[in-house]
Amino acid sequence: MSGIKAPASSVRSGSISPKRSQQQRVAAVTGGAGFLGSHLCEELLKLDHEVICVDDFSTGRLDNIQHLVSTPGFKLKNHDVRAPFDLKVDAFFNFASPASPPAYQADPVGTTKTNVLGTLNGLEIAKKNGAIFVQASTSEVYGDPVISPQVETYFGNVNTIGPRACYDEGKRCAESLIFDYARCCGVTIKVGRIFNTYGPRMRPDDGRVVSNFIVQALTNQDITVYGSGSQTRSFCYVDDLIGGFLKLYQSSMGVTGPINIGNPSEFTVLELAEKIIALTNSSSRIIHLPSAVDDPQQRRPDIRKAEREIGWKPSTSVDHGLKRTIAYFERELGKVSASVALAV
Ligand code: NAD
Ligand code: UDP
Repeated sequence: MSGIKAPASSVRSGSISPKRSQQQRVAAVTGGAGFLGSHLCEELLKLDHEVICVDDFSTGRLDNIQHLVSTPGFKLKNHDVRAPFDLKVDAFFNFASPASPPAYQADPVGTTKTNVLGTLNGLEIAKKNGAIFVQASTSEVYGDPVISPQVETYFGNVNTIGPRACYDEGKRCAESLIFDYARCCGVTIKVGRIFNTYGPRMRPDDGRVVSNFIVQALTNQDITVYGSGSQTRSFCYVDDLIGGFLKLYQSSMGVTGPINIGNPSEFTVLELAEKIIALTNSSSRIIHLPSAVDDPQQRRPDIRKAEREIGWKPSTSVDHGLKRTIAYFERELGKVSASVALAV
């Protein structure tokens, strides 16, 4: 990633925590051993921050952060954010939550608690420390949207009693808590709404569409399209997404969000399957399985607010991002077959 500067004491006043503005900043990243969180930890270390990665390893992996463990300034705290905790930090990045539908639906009550109690516990830490609170919110707050592209002023269309609600409503409640802490307690907040992001460090068994299709294509298994495949998503490469979050973090205090962070290039799920088959030169067939319940039928971010308020837009084409992600999965699957070969 390039073009991102460490927030320095010369940054506009109010854009950073007053407490440690003249010295090295300390940032907590919950969910720091996960896909996005591990990239964020890495970039914050490059910005000369001390990083405390807080994770319970429920969907995260030590592999994602192994290379950081011996880096000066990196600390690991194995903790479930649903239980209160205490840290001395200048910034709190709230990324802990399962994000893949099979993962968040496996323990729905636990998912709601992670997003509500985990956010509340993080906000208390931010309030106590005068720290900036940065939220990994989601396009799922728009539910199955009836307008497209989705603009931040759209209130959304979520089925409160469906199997996705644990995640969607958990994230919506988190946003409401965050804005209340800003209004009532003066916490500096930054809320980014993430649209489908993919890239290296996703788990092969993550269950989301990009990892499923790439793993299926590379192993010549059937590509599992849920429903007709006419539903759409807009896919953002991880480096772009993290760059957007760093710009959001470094923005002036008045920039609270919510701000959509995603890539507006929209594809049907069927188009994605065909693209991945072509890029991997796979002999996989496409098969159709039953639709997922309450599956949003269209999703595309309106990113004009991100361009206007934080000067950000994505720069990685889906073809380029997919090629890099395919190369990563080839290495990951190679590791698995090498260990199977060793075990035989
Ligand atoms: P991920 O599953 O790879 O990472 C989530 C991390 O949170 C994991 O390391 C997991 O172990 C940790 N975690 C979960 N519950 C926890 C708990 N109770 N206590 C401590 N740690 C816990 O998923 P990701 O894609 O990296 O998502 C990271 C964040 O971004 C999540 O908050 C997710 O909702 C949000 N998000 C991601 C996307 C995306 O497309 N990747 C889209 C929208 C929002
Ligand atoms: N999907 C699919 N096959 C899969 C996994 C997902 O067709 O093996 C579809 C899913 O039904 C949805 C889209 O791909 O329409 C994106 O799903 P994902 O789980 O990646 O994310 P989300 O639904 O949360 O956007």
